[in-house]
Amino acid sequence: MRQQLISTRDLPRGEIEAVLDRAAEIDADPGAWYGTHAGQLLGLLFYEPSTRTRLSFEAAIKRLGGDTVNLGAVEASSVAKGETLADTARMVAGYADALVLRHPREGAAAMVSEFVDVPLINAGDGAGQHPSQTLLDLYTIREHAGLDDLDIGIMGDLKYGRTVHSLANALTTFGARQYFISPPSLALPDSVRYDLDQAGADVSQHAELEAVLDDLDVLYVTRIQRERFPDENEYQAVAGHYRIDADLLSTGPPDLKVMHPLPRVDEIAPDVDETDHAIYFDQARNGVPVRMALLDLLL
Ligand code: ASP
Repeated sequence: MRQQLISTRDLPRGEIEAVLDRAAEIDADPGAWYGTHAGQLLGLLFYEPSTRTRLSFEAAIKRLGGDTVNLGAVEASSVAKGETLADTARMVAGYADALVLRHPREGAAAMVSEFVDVPLINAGDGAGQHPSQTLLDLYTIREHAGLDDLDIGIMGDLKYGRTVHSLANALTTFGARQYFISPPSLALPDSVRYDLDQAGADVSQHAELEAVLDDLDVLYVTRIQRERFPDENEYQAVAGHYRIDADLLSTGPPDLKVMHPLPRVDEIAPDVDETDHAIYFDQARNGVPVRMALLDLLL
């Protein structure tokens, strides 16, 4: 297992499956893993808001018997005095056994990886990548729909959505058929598309969900990443463009599973929550066993 999880690009299927298999073992008997990493510390460096990622990493290391050292609010740390990311990370690497970094700049985790010699997990770098999210997404897909012969629609903000970029790379190694659904202005960035094409991914691009709904096993819905838009008017032009509700889903495959990395804004109506299609809260829950597995393997 590599020591740094920066991107899902070139992440071998074997390493992905090692994490998913370990997560399944943990899920089957969580108590057996409690205390197995007593005394180990995870350094949390979150330069951007986070709920699930931060809390599930925290829950994961504590379940394993370890603890966290947390930079906390950036305004309350020496970052406010002008300390560089590299200096802060190098220093926390001296206090902790592994680091988790979230940062608004694409490439931040790759940069930090040059400066630290403890395991490092990229927990989101701007519009770049979010590989630990992908591991829990794949775990959830494997549980509910299977990863073989998968038809998956990925809808919403494909341009700025880092969970989409990481997931698309990884799904390619499983041979999934990927249907990308977005307005043209939020299509996948050329660089991501190039990587998928180079890897021989089976992908197609669509403007409307209805065109592909019948073909899908899984629909992965994403939030329009308002904070990444250079111009609020551009955001307003696409906001609310895609919204799914129980009525719409009743016209599609009965077994369709709907996922979302969360938080949702208005792209999934609350009436979907009570249907058998909705697996996004289970997906969020899976963040803990999957991150326990990842930490166990990295530490
Ligand atoms: N929570 C996910 C992320 O940090 C998805 C989102 O924010 O829309 O990328």
